[in-house]
Amino acid sequence: MNSIPELFGSMVFNDVVMKERLPKETYKELKKTIQDGKALDISVANIVANAMKDWAIEKGATHFTHWFQPMTGITAEKHDSFISPVGDSSIIMEFSGKELIQGEPDASSFPSGGLRATFEARGYTAWDPTSYAFIKEDVLCIPTAFCSYSGEVLDKKTPLLRSMEAINTQALRILRLFGNTEATRVVTTVGPEQEYFLIDKEVYDKRKDLIYTGRTLFGAKPPKGQELEDHYFGAIKPRVKAFMEDLDKELWKLGILAKTEHNEVAPAQHELAPIFTNTNVATDHNQLTMELMKKVASRHDLVCLLHEKPFAGVNGSGKHNNWSISTTNGVNLLDPGKTPYENAQFLLFLTAVIKAVDEYQDLLRVSVATAGNDHRLGANEAPPAVVSMFLGTELTEVLQAIDTDSAYNGQGKTEMEIGVDVLPHFPKDTTDRNRTSPFAFTGNKFEFRMLGSSLSISGPNIVLNTIVAEELDQFADILEKADDFTTALNKLIKDTIKDHKRIIFNGNGYDDAWIQEAEKRGLLNLHSSAEALPYFCAEKNIKLFTKHHIFSEAEVRSRCDIMLENYCKVISIEALTMLEMVHKDILPAVYTYIKRLSETALATRQLCPDITCESEIKLVSRLSSLCNSLSNKADNLDKAVLDAKMHTEAAESATFYRDYVFGAMQELRAVADEIEGLVGEKYWPYPTYGAMLFSVR
Ligand code: ADP
Ligand code: MG
Repeated sequence: MNSIPELFGSMVFNDVVMKERLPKETYKELKKTIQDGKALDISVANIVANAMKDWAIEKGATHFTHWFQPMTGITAEKHDSFISPVGDSSIIMEFSGKELIQGEPDASSFPSGGLRATFEARGYTAWDPTSYAFIKEDVLCIPTAFCSYSGEVLDKKTPLLRSMEAINTQALRILRLFGNTEATRVVTTVGPEQEYFLIDKEVYDKRKDLIYTGRTLFGAKPPKGQELEDHYFGAIKPRVKAFMEDLDKELWKLGILAKTEHNEVAPAQHELAPIFTNTNVATDHNQLTMELMKKVASRHDLVCLLHEKPFAGVNGSGKHNNWSISTTNGVNLLDPGKTPYENAQFLLFLTAVIKAVDEYQDLLRVSVATAGNDHRLGANEAPPAVVSMFLGTELTEVLQAIDTDSAYNGQGKTEMEIGVDVLPHFPKDTTDRNRTSPFAFTGNKFEFRMLGSSLSISGPNIVLNTIVAEELDQFADILEKADDFTTALNKLIKDTIKDHKRIIFNGNGYDDAWIQEAEKRGLLNLHSSAEALPYFCAEKNIKLFTKHHIFSEAEVRSRCDIMLENYCKVISIEALTMLEMVHKDILPAVYTYIKRLSETALATRQLCPDITCESEIKLVSRLSSLCNSLSNKADNLDKAVLDAKMHTEAAESATFYRDYVFGAMQELRAVADEIEGLVGEKYWPYPTYGAMLFSVR
């Protein structure tokens, strides 16, 4: 199979395959399930399962798995073969409808945040027919949702599907108010741009910190980093090119719309952007993309680093979540359109997003809060930790004109009349250039730019879908009751702009002055995950999630605990790794170097008694005193890690890790990095920053 169109989707049980392989009636039933979310009849499921199995076996599959997304943030699978014994010594290949629609993995070892006692550990996975089954490494993978038997949600897919349902319901109410009777379903769409690093496997294998934690915990700055900006969009090196070509092919086979690939700002950093698709599928595809990046890299003797901050001193990696709302007939509801009517509808959806982002800044911040991402937000390489919105000059002027009843851009009118006047044309490229904004309108979609590179995009999109659904719900309530729709619409848009314009900021988000200004405007600045995460359980947020049936209160609380615990565990693993590196490798290496220096000095003096060996002595003395300091800092870290264990309450514990453990880690690193600069390269136990960042040629 050579041609790309033939390759594309060849490992996916997609619509074309279904149409080809299923009896007409079964196909229709299945489509109904997919489109309207109807339950699938077991007799239909049996036929689908059998067709799926035959197709999968033809493609070389021997096993199947329910592929799901537990709270670990990565995907999980347990393989079962198709074999089924007949008689004494032979088998047939079998796959039943029951096996397709429901599975029962043991749920006891997945994080549940205390929701599920181990004695009732049973969980089940249920087929999500809105995301196609696919074959990965000879295994037929069935995308599934994961719940406990008592009904608690244990994964990242179920709430995402629920949030899509919520925004569908509310957006349809709004469309009906505008007289749209055609649209049957509204979905959100996402195109996640994914950043990553590639380094040589040989250097990676020598770094315990990368192996255990995904980031370098030590490392002196190399003479050259990203200051020349010569890597961004630069020519792609042959090994990287070969990797990208191979990756594209693997992604295309799975029907993933990999589109754009280029070098990023930091040395060894790259980006892949797919063409957008509906949020549920985009989320599955992004998880698969991350997995395949790692697998394909290893085939090329490379390692793909998805950590948010693998290297200090150069940019870390993020993920831009391009998000929009559209009808299933393909009308983008965040596209301003050309007629006054389309414009009015656009302005209503736009103001719903503005209100949502302002009222739920905390939730958006929480949705991207991880220990890894804390290194990036606000560090002048990614947006600040303050959530704000960029709308671009033109659109902001339109909103100002509406807010103040004044003329827009000297058009000579006294007022922009919504639903009567046509909005000016917004040139797309002028709206896309503010890279410092956390949440930017880019012509016909929003780009949420605070996500870390390794994050599942599920969390941020659950929040986005739900908060916008909530505002649309409020808007629909008002407009449905209005006597005069146009008057009510005008007032609603105007009031919303007035009340929530503080969230709009078009300036430089990296500027300190903005942080002060944001504070004056009353916007939240949640520096670290430890500060941000407890907001997830704020009363207003529990109300939001329960109202739209995304989570129960217990589920919100358990998720908050899982996130806080994860934050503590990540820092704890990093701290323990540092201690091991110091005691097992760094100190012994420095002692060896000191010994070598001392021996050299002694030998020189024996040979030429008038040579004083000042430089050797100076270095020995400096290194010895730095070792002393390193050892003290290691003791401090050791103590902080022990003390951290005394905190049992999740939020308290997270604060302790941030203030004390993380602080002690930074102090330890500073001394080690200073020592690295003084010790001969062949004595240093790890590849240097230079060796890692420039390892791929
Ligand atoms: P750039 O940011 O480089 O200018 P684009 O704006 O064309 O590129 O697209 C960036 C990402 O946004 C791509 O992944 C693209 O598929 C996605 N995107 C474009 N339109 C939409 C949309 N309506 N909904 C969601 N994502 C979109
Ligand atoms: Mg972009």
